[in-house]
Amino acid sequence: MSSSTSSPSPPSDACAALAARIGVADASLLRDEGFIADAWTRAELGDGGGATFDVVNPATGETLVSVAKLGAAETRAAIDAAAAALPSWSATTAIVRAQALRRWGDLVNAHASDLARIMCAEQGAFCCTLVPTRPRRRGERRSLRTFPGASLRPHLAFNPRPRRLSTPTDAFQLHPDVRGLGKPLAEARGEVAYASSFIDWFADEGRRTYGEVIPTHDANARVFALRQPIGVCAAITPWNFPLAMITRKAAAALAAGCVVVVKPSEETPLSALALAELAARAGIPRGVLGFVMGDANAIGEAMTGSEIVRKLSFTGSTAVGKKLMRDCAGTVKRTSMELGGCAPFLVFQDANIDEAVKGAMGSKFRNAGQTCVSSQRYIVHEDVIDEFGAKFAAAARKLVVGDGLRGKTDQGPLINARALAKVEAHVADALSKGAKVLCGGHRVTENGCDKGVFYAPTVLANVPRDASLFREEVFGPVAALTSFADERDAIALANDTTAGLAAYVYTNDNARVWRVSEKLEYGMVGANTGVVSAASAPFGGVKESGTGREGGKHGIEEYLEVKHLSVGGVGR
Ligand code: ADP
Repeated sequence: MSSSTSSPSPPSDACAALAARIGVADASLLRDEGFIADAWTRAELGDGGGATFDVVNPATGETLVSVAKLGAAETRAAIDAAAAALPSWSATTAIVRAQALRRWGDLVNAHASDLARIMCAEQGAFCCTLVPTRPRRRGERRSLRTFPGASLRPHLAFNPRPRRLSTPTDAFQLHPDVRGLGKPLAEARGEVAYASSFIDWFADEGRRTYGEVIPTHDANARVFALRQPIGVCAAITPWNFPLAMITRKAAAALAAGCVVVVKPSEETPLSALALAELAARAGIPRGVLGFVMGDANAIGEAMTGSEIVRKLSFTGSTAVGKKLMRDCAGTVKRTSMELGGCAPFLVFQDANIDEAVKGAMGSKFRNAGQTCVSSQRYIVHEDVIDEFGAKFAAAARKLVVGDGLRGKTDQGPLINARALAKVEAHVADALSKGAKVLCGGHRVTENGCDKGVFYAPTVLANVPRDASLFREEVFGPVAALTSFADERDAIALANDTTAGLAAYVYTNDNARVWRVSEKLEYGMVGANTGVVSAASAPFGGVKESGTGREGGKHGIEEYLEVKHLSVGGVGR
């Protein structure tokens, strides 16, 4: 199987124009077609007949570019290409696969800046053009006043190194043609590093998929357990971490010797297609890694209904995960499901409250609360709830939402209007049941946010336990606080949900750390930390939050079958 690196093919005119608009230096990273059998592909194979869908910037509602809308026929073609690639890819040594993965990871790192800009564009972050409002005054230094990344040069927006600001705010205003972009650039760059960390991790893990020699039951036989790649895999990924959710699956699968067809979210296909472009440049062979997007239902059914696909890995909502599991039953596929959470955040009376607030801020407001491990239900001891609530609200109030003029942006928009409506409904439900607003509780429309879907960082106190915020995932920047008096009650409330992804506990009592962590019915527990994810650690949930683990040494197991080999006649 050839694995020579390839040079980029030119982008479409629309992608080249978008690259100029959002300041992407390597325009070939922007792609508006699916990637099947090493070729950029439009929907000419049947279902779509050349159809496209728009990728929209949620900060402004602006269409970035139209992308090929693929369907079942293209998915089947990608699956066939993957099946054709499987024999030689699975037969390569783990070292050769690791080398290909490393080239891919190196390219991801080398293009971090462009990847972050693409991600910001489709997830929403301000990309500001500032114009002078008045002539320069004598002696006035005119430099930028903008958030990390924006530059004064018209059209070219992002400067990764924020400069010191020396210009009074009244000297500039946003150009009327302001282009909003929402995941803050620093977060986007962090995600690029997070995404490449999975490629790096699994490149190594592929070399450690050891089998076993089993003490025999028969003197005439020798018994082994081999670990072999499952085969053709499918991956369906969400928009909230548009790179990392792909690498966490695809790098594990490829390292194990599997081949994969990825369906990224239609909200964020551009990040995914940039990964495809870099995989091609890295010499990942034809058919080993395909990308299709467009008609989610048709693509999903082509994947789940296929007898060729032996494994589906999904990250997304619980409802869609359940449907996919049902559909996979028809062909008895292996599945990994990383579904929704509703994370509790327990603060005990002996906790360091300032540290707890710091952890809560990180786990609540990262990505505007749109992560499946976002803390949501704050279960706080009655002795410290007032202090915790006041400090948490004070910190949340300081977050800058989507304002390109104040020097920095901490929180971008939600992904779309549906997400905003959901957040508003949850807050309205809590307020109608007696909750009290400590901060936020409303949309943000000022400072150029009027066309986007921004919601203020929100902390609600006295949230009753029958409020929807204590039952369903909000997926937005809303924290719901309630108090407890007794440890057992706190644990019972934390476990009183169908979800079981991440939980957090803050206490300075070491015995309590162990006692509570063991009793929490969750796949991941952060004790005195608001961060539970790393390439080296198993990520996944229990109960309706899913099955299987990603990352760590466990992540590659999801792509391996154990084969029992008995060799007879050896004792004669
Ligand atoms: P969210 O609401 O957070 O976007 P979803 O579960 O709807 O979560 O989406 C996660 C991924 O699942 C996306 O790639 C989306 O396109 C895909 N998806 C949604 N519905 C289906 C479906 N019926 N079949 C297959 N994939 C789907």
